[in-house]
Amino acid sequence: MPARVISGTRIRDQILAELKEGVGELSAKGVRPGLGAVLVGENPASKIYVRNKIKACDQAGIYSETIMPPQEITTGELVEIVHDLNARDDIDGILVQLPLPPQVDSGKVLRAVSPEKDVDGFHPVNVGALVTQQPGLAPCTPTGLIEILKRSDIPIAGRRAVVIGRSNIVGKPAALLLLHEHATVTICHSKTADLAAVAREADILIAAIGRPAMVTREFIKPGATVLDVGTNRVTGAAEAERILAGMPKRLERFREKGSALVGDVHPADVAEVAGAYTPVPGGVGPLTIAMLMVNTLKAARQRHAGPSSSRSAFSML
Ligand code: NDP
Repeated sequence: MPARVISGTRIRDQILAELKEGVGELSAKGVRPGLGAVLVGENPASKIYVRNKIKACDQAGIYSETIMPPQEITTGELVEIVHDLNARDDIDGILVQLPLPPQVDSGKVLRAVSPEKDVDGFHPVNVGALVTQQPGLAPCTPTGLIEILKRSDIPIAGRRAVVIGRSNIVGKPAALLLLHEHATVTICHSKTADLAAVAREADILIAAIGRPAMVTREFIKPGATVLDVGTNRVTGAAEAERILAGMPKRLERFREKGSALVGDVHPADVAEVAGAYTPVPGGVGPLTIAMLMVNTLKAARQRHAGPSSSRSAFSML
């Protein structure tokens, strides 16, 4: 039986509809959630990411503004911009789009963001909160993965989860969230011995590697759920043929455009062997932006609720 394709776009739309209600409720009390995005320089990919985030804000009724300092900005100047956003009452969430230019100390800038406005969940205070399961703001792609599993009725507790990738942004927080959901979790990386055999033990396999279609059939336990975080642009014809063989429409589009967006998981292999999987595009990606909106609403609620609020910052919507 071919695997079930999990549509991230459908789940994103569900979440955005719920979010709109939450934003409406808060706005009725006179509080419109606000997101401040900082986009440094002219990186075309960063521009697209920020534009999509601002578009999602508009759709959800969240106020947003983008600050666009030049590429030559110093660490000190960028920290000052962040401090100004920290001080503003109409801004609940601050997003500093990465990567920052090489002369900027990214860690220093991210640590300057007030933890209560840190909607990317990168500040050490929020990382600590995530590890110890305290209220806080968790990174968007990993929380999106958990939403995908829950909303697709895929059980997590007691299952074996393998996360390939140990970045601070995806792999590590994804592993922690799965652990908090009571999975038995293994984290793999570039030094893992016999990676395919370890991956094959997974009931839930997360690929967050950044290597086009590296996860092939021998990595996948028959019937497993496979979530593909990878977003890789391939431009080589031979590589595109290896990955998109059997998908004539996508190959044709590759030939027209000269590039194709693919995940870390081989699309034909996962469709044959897995029980369910997220495609690329249209899988994990759409959730990341939705969860940024969710974090902005959480941050707004938390900041305006006052000490008597019983709502946990980690509670969904
Ligand atoms: P990083 O480059 O920070 O981390 C990649 C991880 O993969 C590292 O831990 C690395 O191991 C591991 N890795 C690399 N090569 C291998 C290999 N051959 N075998 C086993 N492990 C390997 O990437 P990110 O975590 O930031 O992102 C991962 C992917 O997810 C990228 O394609 C990125 O574009 C995508 N992404 C997608 C998002 C979305 O919304 N869909 C959001 C964020 C990221 P080691 O630590 O040993 O070097």
